[in-house]
Amino acid sequence: MEQMRGRVIRSTGSWYEVKTESGEIFKARLRGKFKQDKLKVNNPIAVGDWVLLDQEGEEGSAVIKTIEPRSNYIIRKSTRKSNFSHIIASNLDQALLVATLAFPRTSLGFIDRFLVSAESFRIPCVLVINKSDLLDQEGLGVVAQLKELYEGIGYRTLLISVLEEQGLDEIKTALKGKTSLISGHSGVGKSSLLNALVPELGLRIGEVSTFANKGTHTTTFAEMFETEGDARIIDTPGIKELGLVEMEQEEISDYFPEMRAFLGQCKFNNCLHVNEPGCAVLEAFVNGEIADSRYMSYLSMLEDSDNRR
Ligand code: GDP
Ligand code: ZN
Repeated sequence: MEQMRGRVIRSTGSWYEVKTESGEIFKARLRGKFKQDKLKVNNPIAVGDWVLLDQEGEEGSAVIKTIEPRSNYIIRKSTRKSNFSHIIASNLDQALLVATLAFPRTSLGFIDRFLVSAESFRIPCVLVINKSDLLDQEGLGVVAQLKELYEGIGYRTLLISVLEEQGLDEIKTALKGKTSLISGHSGVGKSSLLNALVPELGLRIGEVSTFANKGTHTTTFAEMFETEGDARIIDTPGIKELGLVEMEQEEISDYFPEMRAFLGQCKFNNCLHVNEPGCAVLEAFVNGEIADSRYMSYLSMLEDSDNRR
């Protein structure tokens, strides 16, 4: 029996679609006892995983034997009272956060929270501001400021209009050769962007006529699409926020790239950078080296994490 290597492109919870390196798509199941690492998760396999599988049973069916170590993954805490989480997607090269300044307005707090989550999962982020066509001179000025702020911290920021097909080439360039998660609040134009990037949703690589089960199409699971330029986009319908990995209060500042340089310089090594004497982060903030909105987001996350205790 020939062993194949492939990538999970869709998950229904009970079976998975796997695209092999030779381009075939299999409907794959897990064998009864599947070895898992120590992660406490409900789903042992997620979209983005690289797996080894054996063809087995009827044509197009396979059994997943092994999962390769993940370079990263994003999880969501189970809503039920359990310690188990759900892996949403894995092996991501980057995440695209789609935001808008109008209709609807994405808050900076939401953007910062997303960026911090992505940092905690070690996933680089690109900020995509959509609906540029709705912005007047003042709005464009705000975008310019945001671009300066976020690019200064290291997050590429693109202004686009899916409606007017502005900036899409830049997006395509950013996606080239990578596996990207696409996220954002509903209404920001995420579906419109996906449609623009994946012209016929026939390219929706998860959909295979032989076993696409009409009527039971689930939209709550992540799905991977392929687009031109060897780009893979993972859509996670219904999931707006990334869950935070469990983090100590002291850790949160690690995920603010502009704070990192100062962290070793605080007087107390368990400094939370709120009102402690000799705090290098506060000093940087006072000197204007850390933006007000970012520091406010930091305080708000610190407070939330305190409430969770
Ligand atoms: P999603 O909820 O993020 O998937 O957003 P949709 O793609 O469904 O878009 C929400 C609304 O925004 C729809 O009415 C779209 O036509 C509209 N929309 C999407 N992109 C743009 C854009 O670039 N400019 C404007 N003016 N409207 C847009
Ligand atoms: Zn400090």
